[in-house]
Amino acid sequence: MPESLMQVPHSLGLHSLNDYEPLIGRETIDRIVKKAAILSGAHVVHISSTFYGGGVTEILTPLTLLMNTVGIETGWRMIQGTPEFFQCTKKIHNGLQGEALVLSPEDKACYEQVAYENAIRLHLEDCDAVIVHDPQPLPIIRRFRGRAAPWIWQCHVDLSRPHPPVWDYVRGFVADYDAAIFSLPEYRQNLPIDQHFMTPAIDPFSAKNCELSDDVIAQSLALHRIPTDLPIVTQISRFDRWKDPLGVIESVRRARQHVDCTLVLLGNAALDDPESNIILETIQSSVDERIIVLAVEDPQLVNALQRRASVVLQKSLREGFGLTVTEAMWKGAAVIGGNVGGIRHQIADGENGFLVNSVEEAADRTVALLNNPQLGKSLGVQARETVRQRYLLTHLLEQWIDLLTNVLARSERN
Ligand code: UDP
Repeated sequence: MPESLMQVPHSLGLHSLNDYEPLIGRETIDRIVKKAAILSGAHVVHISSTFYGGGVTEILTPLTLLMNTVGIETGWRMIQGTPEFFQCTKKIHNGLQGEALVLSPEDKACYEQVAYENAIRLHLEDCDAVIVHDPQPLPIIRRFRGRAAPWIWQCHVDLSRPHPPVWDYVRGFVADYDAAIFSLPEYRQNLPIDQHFMTPAIDPFSAKNCELSDDVIAQSLALHRIPTDLPIVTQISRFDRWKDPLGVIESVRRARQHVDCTLVLLGNAALDDPESNIILETIQSSVDERIIVLAVEDPQLVNALQRRASVVLQKSLREGFGLTVTEAMWKGAAVIGGNVGGIRHQIADGENGFLVNSVEEAADRTVALLNNPQLGKSLGVQARETVRQRYLLTHLLEQWIDLLTNVLARSERN
């Protein structure tokens, strides 16, 4: 690896692999550096649909920087879309997560047209590999048929039960790729291409995950007028029906019949998610003085809430992976997650958090944790260790290096 890239100046707020030594040890860092040397100078481009909001952005922001620090020339391009385009892609997203909906010929025409227009602007001739994220930019591959470099599609959604007509349509594009990556082995599909599995990860040094003093936490909560006189229960998620915000409100209402608390629902809207405003309006109609709904973009508030809350809920009904769970576990929080998708891979029920299948179970576990803070603390210790071992950014970087080495070697052989 070029020495200049290893020694990234901290004044720029960038972190190098060496900064991870206290967390993962020298041996692991040396192993990653050695593997990365094989890819030195390779030019890789990630393509997604937004630089703002949602898990994909959260992963690509630090990952693309860290890939560069180990000598892999990594770019990140974004596609543009009209509101109609993002309506279509949200429909596709919902269909892939299992909603029985119909994609009209007009939806498909709009989706493909906008994707192809984007393809014209993407000059990718000098890339060694292209990685396309999620359904939004998926069809652009059709405009790169004569490509030499391998193209990989990475799907971040919960594909456990896709609605068959929607998957069949999407599958037609996926089959043109050289490989597909899903978050979990159970999302494997019937495809004529290689399938890989890769769990996301968090950047422990980002504003969202770094250590915070009690003073900074208190200031951050005060800034948003969050009362701290009662224990805090929180869910931090895009305003999306799959995150079940109404189920969270109902669970906490039930819990409050036994032990009082303040619920904070913090959410943002990904720019490519047109449904969030409708969901937000629905939730806002259920607020009272102990149910606080905040729609703000503030990574430090996410951090502060995950650290200060007595219970962090992520009561999703579908969840490709669930980075908010990882983030809260890293902070040693007592996490209650929906027993779905990637959450069930992160939480071992009763060991490092709780998994729940219903509003009633979520309410019961919330009461148990509010009544017994020591229980939350001991789950939190295990939770942090789970993340240290499996879900830090260095782990994801190593998975990418292994995969790219494998895919590039294969494409050279062909
Ligand atoms: N997030 C945020 N502010 C919010 C809500 C969510 O910064 O108000 C972040 C959250 O911390 C996480 C990401 O958005 O990093 C969501 O990723 P996740 O995998 O949990 O869900 P997705 O939105 O991709 O379905």
